[in-house]
Amino acid sequence: MSEYLDNGASLAGPGLFDAGHGVSYTPYYLDEERTRLGGLYMWHPCPLTRERLGIDDMAGVGPNAKTGQAWGYENVGDPAHITLIGSVLDPDCGWHGFIRNGRWEPC
Ligand SMILES: [Zn+2]
Repeated sequence: MSEYLDNGASLAGPGLFDAGHGVSYTPYYLDEERTRLGGLYMWHPCPLTRERLGIDDMAGVGPNAKTGQAWGYENVGDPAHITLIGSVLDPDCGWHGFIRNGRWEPC
């Protein structure tokens, strides 16, 4: 499945939007017109490798978390203030929280 980032956005990180707490994110879309949000690529301070996402050629700079269609999204038209319905967890390092109104809320 193809994914489309905003013009000028890159997976080299950090993400397009700074959510605080060292977390940033970049939305990706399922259509070239960027009307169907697929989810968020996310960066968080993590002591572990990024190889789990299959982008190990970007080791050290690529995103280390990703949301998809299993999450709900609000404020999709204003990605700087997006809200995730459902938390994000890195079970290996324990990073866990929410994006609400574009801000990271640890839990
Ligand atoms: Zn982590």
